[in-house]
Amino acid sequence: MRYISTRGKAPELGFEDVLLTGLARDGGLYVPKTWPTLTPADLKRLAGLSYAETAFEVCRLFTGDAFDDATLKGIMDEVYGSFEHSAVAPLKQLDGNLWMMELFHGPTLAFKDYAMQVLGRMFDHVLTKRGEKVTIVGATSGDTGSAAIEACRDKAAIDIFMLHPKGRVSPVQEAQMTSVLSANVHNIAIEGTFDDCQDRVKDLFNDPAFRDRYNLSAVNSINWARVMAQIVYYFWAAVKLGAPDKPVAFSVPTGNFGNVFAGYGALQMGLPISKLVVGSNANDILARFFASGAMEMAGVVPTLSPSMDIQVSSNFERLLFDLVGRDGTVCAQVLTDFRKTGRFTVSAEQLAQARKVFAGARFDDNATKTIIKQVHDQTGELIDPHSAVGVGAARENPAPDGASMVVLATAHPAKFPDAVEDATGIRPALPARLADLLDRPKRCQSLPNDLDQLKHSIESTLA
Ligand SMILES: *Cc1c(COP(=O)(O)O)cnc(C)c1O
Repeated sequence: MRYISTRGKAPELGFEDVLLTGLARDGGLYVPKTWPTLTPADLKRLAGLSYAETAFEVCRLFTGDAFDDATLKGIMDEVYGSFEHSAVAPLKQLDGNLWMMELFHGPTLAFKDYAMQVLGRMFDHVLTKRGEKVTIVGATSGDTGSAAIEACRDKAAIDIFMLHPKGRVSPVQEAQMTSVLSANVHNIAIEGTFDDCQDRVKDLFNDPAFRDRYNLSAVNSINWARVMAQIVYYFWAAVKLGAPDKPVAFSVPTGNFGNVFAGYGALQMGLPISKLVVGSNANDILARFFASGAMEMAGVVPTLSPSMDIQVSSNFERLLFDLVGRDGTVCAQVLTDFRKTGRFTVSAEQLAQARKVFAGARFDDNATKTIIKQVHDQTGELIDPHSAVGVGAARENPAPDGASMVVLATAHPAKFPDAVEDATGIRPALPARLADLLDRPKRCQSLPNDLDQLKHSIESTLA
């Protein structure tokens, strides 16, 4: 299995290098040169498998010779065997044809665990084999940081530094990060905004001497291995609901377009997906694109679903690459212009091509709270604000011919308790294993928003 960059200038790589590289050297994102496919008979065989077995069968199509079967199987068994629900990604029926797939039974209660846990183990395995170590540096507004820390904790080949804006992440998210006391985990609270944190991380990566000296790496959502591990649950849900004999649609609350792009990948691999509905909050650049064919940047406004508060969806580049006929030069040109002008449009044919698969919908905070209340009234289920956007988007775009529609529930309601309580009057409780989370001992260093002090701190920590 070979991977190519969406900007056409970086070298073709195998899985191991794609895993460790993240961003391609030409600034593009890696995608499979050709998609592996599963036949209807293959899909029928998946129907009887456990989640870990499904993950093994799907991911082995992408990993080439990076792992032998026993190692890859071991990784999947270890990761998904530790999730809290024995089904790993249980499906709940909300209505006649409407289902919710709960993707919040991992260690940090959000869907990012499903891929990040795999990524952490794959990093550790490949690095140990090569006798190398990496320093992972990242910025987070909440969910990504906690999932990355849980995935990398106690891994001998990894040190992880995670920057968050001091006092600006939710108490649960902050505690999920800073209560991890492992020696290789380093939380840094920056006196500034999330954008400041992200800018300082970019500064570190843009310093070649620093970058090479500490072998800096990232585990953000553009890493191909995360997309790969997210493809698994589309297969898992669809075969449970009748694929390959019946098509299934999905509704995905979306920020960086990584999760829903994994659904697009499953479709390329032969899974009969009739629609992928993209749910946006007030930061609706994607919903506007699928309505008009114009991608137009706007300022970010804070919402009840902060993990979808984005200005630009970085993984959209992978879809754009296909829309422009997989021509890396054209793709790079469109994105360079976009950075300059804040806008690009696709042709009517390209928009039609995109809309064969995707639809978009937008819900502001009031609409989100109304959906949380409705779902609770109608089913007794408490859902978080991100998942509520997914439910709203599904209801606005029902699957054709009464096919099943699956909403991806991306966070546990207790991760966003204020919004849920506001909408329903009920405060969702954390799972028992996390009940004392806020009272646990914490370790975190505070730093001003200053590159030199940040560098100095990393240097002295690693010395
Ligand atoms: C990260 C996140 C999202 C957005 O996922 P993308 O892959 O960026 O589209 C949605 N909901 C929750 C709870 C998240 O943590």
